[in-house]
Amino acid sequence: MKKSTTDPKFSTKTSPKAEPALNELFLDSIKDIYWAENHLIKVLPKMQKAATSAELAAAIGDHLQETIIHATRLEQVFELLGEKVQAKKCDAMEGLAKEGESIVESTEPGTATRDVGIILASQKVEHYEIATYGGLTQLAKTLGLDDVAELLGQTLGEEKLADEKLTTIAEENVNYTAADEA
Ligand code: FE
Ligand code: ZN
Ligand code: FE
Repeated sequence: MKKSTTDPKFSTKTSPKAEPALNELFLDSIKDIYWAENHLIKVLPKMQKAATSAELAAAIGDHLQETIIHATRLEQVFELLGEKVQAKKCDAMEGLAKEGESIVESTEPGTATRDVGIILASQKVEHYEIATYGGLTQLAKTLGLDDVAELLGQTLGEEKLADEKLTTIAEENVNYTAADEA
């Protein structure tokens, strides 16, 4: 039998008010990632300053600009949901950022080894964001919030590109330089 989009049995869309618990979970998760993006806006300049290679510093600087856009996009999501903009502390991002800062503290300034550490820490951050935006984009679609899914999907794509860029910097340059470091 052919699946019909009008047959409620096969429909993946539900009314936003149909699943209050799921909608609440979704909204809480948006508040969590909104906190996380705003935390990164504070942390990324420190990482950029600590980076040794100009290429890595520039990549972090570029992603800072994107991160500001990610926070703005989430504000648009709140608006689309008819909810007030609100942040809810993300324990995961707080921990990931702390880990990044402690790597900086435990490595020598001006070394490629420090850059390797910054890239490792940054990629953990990007993977957390990719997991979050991937899951929330899908959930938005399930809830029938296509315009919200579109915004979250844009950010998902940018987080993936940021992660790939870090991999390239590590593989093509920083890892080898660090391996040759005394
Ligand atoms: Fe982001
Ligand atoms: Zn979180
Ligand atoms: Fe990011």
